[in-house]
Amino acid sequence: MADLITSYYCVCSQLVLTIAPPITALPRLKTSPFKSRVISHADCVYSLTCARDTFPTILKRDDGIEEYHYVHRCQRCQLPVAYDLEETPSSFTFLYDESCNTKG
Ligand SMILES: [Zn+2]
Repeated sequence: MADLITSYYCVCSQLVLTIAPPITALPRLKTSPFKSRVISHADCVYSLTCARDTFPTILKRDDGIEEYHYVHRCQRCQLPVAYDLEETPSSFTFLYDESCNTKG
């Protein structure tokens, strides 16, 4: 049986993500210092209703590696919700830890 779609909201109560399976079932990106969840485009059904930055935010990790985050932001309050590591569409989108909640 297919997973039910779960809706997630920003702290400002804006709907930002609908997805199956629920994000608690998604693996964490082990190399990430942000405890990000991995949305595999092949394995998830999802809709991210955010505005994506045109330019990357460059974050330097403790190990010295720079990550380029193309950030998806809440359309109402601009808080970061998720990010891509590449400018062009790829196979994965990453969800910042505790960036959204099931309660609106
Ligand atoms: Zn918001």
